[in-house]
Amino acid sequence: MTSKQIRQKFLEFFQSKQHTIVPSAPIVLKDDPTLMFSNSGMTQFKNFFLGYKDPENKRVADTQKCLRVSGKHNDLDDVGKDTYHHTMFEMLGNWSFGDYFKKEAIAWAWELLTEVYKIPKEYLYVTIFEGDDKEGLIRDSEAFNYWKEHISEDRILLGNKKDNFWEMGDTGPCGPSSEIHVDIRSKEEKEKIDGKTLVNKDHPQVIEIWNLVFMEFLRKADGSLDKLPKQNVDTGMGFERLCMVLQGKMSNYDTDVFTPLIQKIESISGYIYGNNAEKDIAIRVIVDHVRAIAFSIADGQLPSNSGAGYVIRRILRRAIGYAFRFLEVKDPILYTLIPVLKEQMGEFFPEIEKQEHLIKEVIKEEETNFLKTIDQGLVRLSNFMKSHKDLKIIPGDVIFELYDTYGFPSDLSRIIAEEKGLTVDEQGFISEMKKQKQRSKFASTFKNYDWVVLEEDQQEEFVGYDFIKTQIKITQYRKVENKEGEFYQLVFQVTPFYAESGGQVGDTGFIENINEKIEILNTKKENNLIVHIVKELPKYPEFPFQAIVNSKRRQQITQNHSATHLLHEALREVLGNHVEQKGSYVGPDYLRFDFSHFNKMTKEEIALVEKKVNIKIYERLPLEENRSVPFKQAIEMGAMALFGEKYGDVVRVIKFGDSIELCGGTHVSNTQDILIFKIMNETSSSAGIRRIEAITGETGLNFLQDQFNEFEELKNILKTNENPIKAVEKLYSENEQLKKQLEQYIKEKAVQEKALWKNAIQKIGDINYLGLITNLNNSSVKDIIFQLKAEIKNLFIIVGTKTNNKPTISVGISDDLVKSGKCHAGTIVKELAQEIKGGGGGQPSFATAGGSDIGGLERAIQKSKIFL
Ligand code: ATP
Ligand code: MG
Repeated sequence: MTSKQIRQKFLEFFQSKQHTIVPSAPIVLKDDPTLMFSNSGMTQFKNFFLGYKDPENKRVADTQKCLRVSGKHNDLDDVGKDTYHHTMFEMLGNWSFGDYFKKEAIAWAWELLTEVYKIPKEYLYVTIFEGDDKEGLIRDSEAFNYWKEHISEDRILLGNKKDNFWEMGDTGPCGPSSEIHVDIRSKEEKEKIDGKTLVNKDHPQVIEIWNLVFMEFLRKADGSLDKLPKQNVDTGMGFERLCMVLQGKMSNYDTDVFTPLIQKIESISGYIYGNNAEKDIAIRVIVDHVRAIAFSIADGQLPSNSGAGYVIRRILRRAIGYAFRFLEVKDPILYTLIPVLKEQMGEFFPEIEKQEHLIKEVIKEEETNFLKTIDQGLVRLSNFMKSHKDLKIIPGDVIFELYDTYGFPSDLSRIIAEEKGLTVDEQGFISEMKKQKQRSKFASTFKNYDWVVLEEDQQEEFVGYDFIKTQIKITQYRKVENKEGEFYQLVFQVTPFYAESGGQVGDTGFIENINEKIEILNTKKENNLIVHIVKELPKYPEFPFQAIVNSKRRQQITQNHSATHLLHEALREVLGNHVEQKGSYVGPDYLRFDFSHFNKMTKEEIALVEKKVNIKIYERLPLEENRSVPFKQAIEMGAMALFGEKYGDVVRVIKFGDSIELCGGTHVSNTQDILIFKIMNETSSSAGIRRIEAITGETGLNFLQDQFNEFEELKNILKTNENPIKAVEKLYSENEQLKKQLEQYIKEKAVQEKALWKNAIQKIGDINYLGLITNLNNSSVKDIIFQLKAEIKNLFIIVGTKTNNKPTISVGISDDLVKSGKCHAGTIVKELAQEIKGGGGGQPSFATAGGSDIGGLERAIQKSKIFL
């Protein structure tokens, strides 16, 4: 069975059990402060489990793109070293939201594995939760009894809390789980060691493939457990592991999910997979990581210097590091795997197919830059070793700095050190790493306290499209702590406050009643709840309030948001249909729009785009807003769905003329309300992505007025009424001419001066001595000194100059005198500099010193004679 068929069979099976098949959620998460990436199938359904939202379907199945590289689930260190953990993998899952429970979940899992996929029953073991006295939890005998109907009792094993009690996080839904393990060892090995004893013992051929979680409890912040109002099933099966079992392989990497990628690497590197343990790890790392990187970019997360983007950049660099070290590949290669990946997965995951070009470009540029970094790191390291020849151990902080500041892999440092017969201060390095972890941990610590519920409320409603002021009641609140301090989050039953999303910033404002007035600092979405952030909790939170949005700020945001839509449309008209939105910021101050496009825009293109948007503003296009269009219909209308965004079955469509977008933001009711649109700059955001920043409304008008005033001021200064550009050009060319004349004059003067100096040379003993003060500039002085040194033997020359009321002393000594070893211009000038209250130095044959006492120049010249 091919991997494609295996995936398809899973979905069809659960469809036949009345499950609705849903698409994978994006791998990169938005609106979730506790998690950067989907790390299991349940991530996208969290709100259902938390009771924040009602599911549309009670039975659902899917395959979810997961990434386990940070936070609670982090498999990164194992990836490549073992054969069954990946960074990015697919998790097949079936779900019950308050519908079926243990009985059906167990029966169907068994049916699918043994009857559809036909895995021999004697390969399988299952585990159930043994209970936990401390938690007051009893053994999951319910699960045990259901399993007994399918599998012999001696294959049902007990598991402890660590393995068989699943928790979403420190708080939240949780419950006992039941895992299915498969033993794919050879017959002989099975006879030698009983498979039962290898379950959950990290054996690469006795592994967990499926985890059935029975969510029954809610963990609260104080650690206690509550029973959930509805019982849920959440299952997750590793797709790649399943493929290994069904394709009769001993490693995930030997399945058709990975073999095409491995073949490509073999053809580039010349190494055949399977011959050398170190190189095999490198190959596994590369083919694994490229998937994680490609899927993240496809879902809109580009490599960057912070947050999720940084995690992606690190993964990418890890892969490049392995290729560089173990496969000796010194050129970008990861990007060449993308067409193979597209062949492999593009059909099921169109985001890869559609964005192949962008993904390739981004990866290639990252690779190129990082390979440069590696080169520079090599130079830095060898410089360090050269300048510390006596060191036998390279200090940990040096390795750490290379790693942390320059992104230079520490194991590469180690290898280079070893090649030179040096070692690395491992302890020092580890302690630097620890310190840094501490720093970043501190920066990201936050704590959420339990919600205090004042009023049960099914669904909080956003009324801010129509009102910026409403009567509200606080339904729940909680305290949160993060690096900025202590805050409270308030939830209302209705709210006019827009929560930050889709690039648009959150609203600010206040709530008030006769008792008090509380400022709303920001509004955010957390797992679908709209939370209003305040510094102080109301004294009487149970009273009704008037909620009032800062209307001027909201209007500016709205102008910028509508302008963003017009900009998007204009860009597609001017540059072509390949332009796709890749991120935006819509604030009160300006708007920023990132889009896919491969060249810098020309001045003409920018001007044309700007003009087109302004024309739409003059055309006074009314807002056509439709809040509930079926998703399919919206796409047919011409609205574009963005990759990496999650849409519901029903979407909101915003239309201004021909501009149609799926959008939840706030908008002007007519484009004329935008007033004006001005592009401030067009830059590169990253490979293949351009960025436009622009202003609108009052900000735009103010900007133009300021520019006009500056222009008028300029005319004033130039004393011209005509076009000041002409006047400036004239001024500039006059200036150039004057500069040339001045240079000529200085040259001529220097020639005359040189003749005068020559005449003034005194013969004192063997030495030709010249000491004088001149008003030539320093560079002319240096020039003449060098000329004279070349022409006259035994020359000792000291010249004082004054520039901008500061004295300088220059000392020149001809080479023959220098060679005699008797004098050194640098030492002499230091001594003389005391006279002018200054200091300096230089070469044996020429040195200068600056000072602050002009009066001292004469004394310095006199003093110079003592060196004769
Ligand atoms: P393991 O102990 O093997 O790491 P887990 O207990 O972390 O597994 P779960 O969180 O229960 O796994 O995830 C459900 C299923 O997803 C597992 O049974 C396994 O088949 C698969 N899975 C988990 N982590 C990975 C990974 N890093 N790569 C590939 N598949 C995975
Ligand atoms: Mg794990």
